[in-house]
Amino acid sequence: MVADLTPAQLRNLDLLRRADEPIVFDRDAIESLTAEMHDVVEHLSGRLQAAGMADIFLNKTRIAGVLGCEARYVGDDSFEWNVATATGTVAHRAIELGINWRDEPVPAELVDIAIELIIADGRGPAVWLGSASPAERADLRGGATDAVVKFIETFPPIDPRSRPVVESSIRWPVRGPIVFGGKVDLVLGVAAGAESRKVVIDLKTGATRAEHLDDLRFYALVETLRTGVPPRKVASFYLAAGNAVVEDVTVDLLRSAIRRTVDAAVAAVELAEGRAATTTPGAMCRWCALQAECDTGSAYLADLDDN
Ligand code: SF4
Repeated sequence: MVADLTPAQLRNLDLLRRADEPIVFDRDAIESLTAEMHDVVEHLSGRLQAAGMADIFLNKTRIAGVLGCEARYVGDDSFEWNVATATGTVAHRAIELGINWRDEPVPAELVDIAIELIIADGRGPAVWLGSASPAERADLRGGATDAVVKFIETFPPIDPRSRPVVESSIRWPVRGPIVFGGKVDLVLGVAAGAESRKVVIDLKTGATRAEHLDDLRFYALVETLRTGVPPRKVASFYLAAGNAVVEDVTVDLLRSAIRRTVDAAVAAVELAEGRAATTTPGAMCRWCALQAECDTGSAYLADLDDN
């Protein structure tokens, strides 16, 4: 069986496999950080309700957004679907189909089925896909099929006994003025009592970015708050490189996720209450719809281009 795996599959299998010793987190430590998050949510929810503000849902994108540049978080709603932005969504959907496919999956067929399912679902890039030109569709099919082939070549075969779940929705608390959550691309394993056995995996069609680790630590935190049992590992799986970047979940990792999540929630509530948004320039200025009217961002980009 192992002899049938590609070197990349073997390497990634090694990175993701369970250790011989069971991983059981200190119960007091988990209860302490859960209590800390309860206190924060209660306090911020009270502020939102007192001010009669709309509920806030924070996922990994919105957390990165509000901690990146507040002005863009508040004012840039220019996102649009095109070949570049829709390819990742279609590739993810096709890979998810492939994971649960009974026979040997044909990547291009998975992509076609994924496109039809997304259109039928009506969400995300559905409207754009429905009206895309034949050339745009062909371009998208090529990119998405390439991602599916890369996944098959480099991700270890998934044992059904690991109970793989794709597009797994997680949220905490269940409801309220502030909710944290998201959709995890792939979850392998389930907790066995207090033993951590789960691996949370995000599939990445683009390049490595530092915030990908933060995204996964956030998922580990939400999973811990939701179930009381942290996952054992989190991993970004980079399709282009065929490589998993893996972190063991620890109490320190969860505490760092709390600090970042609380910072984002506080900023989001303050902005909802009416505090003026700050501008923080960075790489995202290049794609920001506010750039033309933003002196900070324009100066940053001009400086970058000069140097
Ligand atoms: S151009 Fe840059 S600094 Fe200005 S709002 Fe956009 S992201 Fe923020």
